[in-house]
Amino acid sequence: MTTQSNTPSPNHAGFDEQSFLSAIDPMAKWAVEYMDSLNERDVTAPIKAGSIREQIPQAPPEQGMIHQPTAADGMKQSWESLTQEVQTIIEPGLMHWQSPRFFGYFPCGSSLPGVMGEFVCAVLNVNGMLWSSSPAATELEMRMMDWCAQLFRLPDQFRFDCEGSIGGGCIQGTASEAVLSAIVAARKLKTRQGIDRSKVTLYTSDQAHSSIVKAAMVAGLADSPEDDSRVRLIGVDENLAMDLDALKDAIEQDIRDGLTPCFVSVTLGTTSTGARDPLREVGEMLKAIPQANRPWLHVDAAWAGAASVCPEHRAILDGVELADSLCINPHKWLLTNFDCDLFWVRDRRALVDSMSITPAYLRDEQSESGEVIDYRDWHVPLGRRMRAMKLWFVIRYFGIEGLCSHIRRHVELTEHFEAFVVDEPGLAMACDRVLGLVCFYVDTDEDVTRELIDRVNARRRVMISHTIVPVKRHDHDPIDEPRKRTIARVAVGSASVTKDDVEVLINEVRDELQEMLK
Ligand code: PLP
Repeated sequence: MTTQSNTPSPNHAGFDEQSFLSAIDPMAKWAVEYMDSLNERDVTAPIKAGSIREQIPQAPPEQGMIHQPTAADGMKQSWESLTQEVQTIIEPGLMHWQSPRFFGYFPCGSSLPGVMGEFVCAVLNVNGMLWSSSPAATELEMRMMDWCAQLFRLPDQFRFDCEGSIGGGCIQGTASEAVLSAIVAARKLKTRQGIDRSKVTLYTSDQAHSSIVKAAMVAGLADSPEDDSRVRLIGVDENLAMDLDALKDAIEQDIRDGLTPCFVSVTLGTTSTGARDPLREVGEMLKAIPQANRPWLHVDAAWAGAASVCPEHRAILDGVELADSLCINPHKWLLTNFDCDLFWVRDRRALVDSMSITPAYLRDEQSESGEVIDYRDWHVPLGRRMRAMKLWFVIRYFGIEGLCSHIRRHVELTEHFEAFVVDEPGLAMACDRVLGLVCFYVDTDEDVTRELIDRVNARRRVMISHTIVPVKRHDHDPIDEPRKRTIARVAVGSASVTKDDVEVLINEVRDELQEMLK
């Protein structure tokens, strides 16, 4: 005898009109309320480790919302209760990155068109691993990469749509993944020339983001962050930019030692202070090295690159035509929801050659024809989401002018904060302001900047972060004992930040500073 079950079909994805609208309604309301509430909320909350997990049942539910009465009202209530759990359990456990008073790290700005693009991407939920597995996913992405190349005024070598170009770009999740792909491609070029892969070396400045050394570790060029047998962290000048002579010396020494320089990563806008490595000079110097020993030149402009949408900030990318690859993260400072890293290469064949592996089940006529781009060959993952959708929505919505004014507004607000630091007794700029980043310290005999940061953050109304950098070299500093200093970083980049929010930040810093210096 068979029993009739009331269990809904497991194939029911909930996209019928009634279910969908009853779900979307409370979620849309929640989204508006959350974004509106950010102005009033603390940016961070005191959280005990494990306290969020404790509020979520240890085991998954036997019966889900889907088993509750299917009348529209019943389902709506279920969605409302889930939304409520987001409000009561999740929200209190967040650092609110979209708060207008979030000034920590680098920004991670979102926007309504970005969210809508994510929404469409989630609904379509296609896998663009091959051109043929969703032609529109690949072709939209190729077009967006070419649009962005124009947005940042990149040279033709990085575009698909320029006569004679063998370059192009793809969207990666993060700058960390982009640099890993670039390293693997660079190494492939060397091994193709018959060079022993255990002899290739990598160079970046000691101020570069940790993702460069991490990628070197993943690629097998280093066993640990400290392993310097094939990874050279080049020293910096007084502006914390890569020291060109030191790079040249390191490359020449390695060639003399029978090693093969394989990869140089320069940073335009370092994480600590926004320093800009001398890209043009590095590129010219590398060009003079004979091909067999000439390393691949990668440019990490993850944060600062976004500013080059504005003609007045384009100089940040000066020399980019000398690069083999470049990455910029719109998920940091260009209103595009996390995650979205733009990665361009001058010669896509090297990249594809380093990653391509085609089992029978991925073989098809279009790929074999060589006429299409299969993005699975551009990075580690096979499956890929349609991240280009949100970029399309953002660029369509804001246009070039809207994106420029977004950057300009932030730079202006940062100048306002800079003026405060310059005028405030007891504070000093650690280096020149770079775009939306101000680095400063408490100018006293004792190193109390970390205390100031902690005190400001403990009030929770704003969030700023810290870093440790080599101090500007003065004549009296012993050369062999570089000093380090903790500095405070204020990065202006929240989509909704206003001058009032910067004033709140100024007051918080001033109050705590005065309290400390009493
Ligand atoms: N490069 C720079 C200059 C960065 O500032 C960061 C992160 O802040 C990264 C790379 C790593 O970014 P992602 O999180 O996209 O890997």
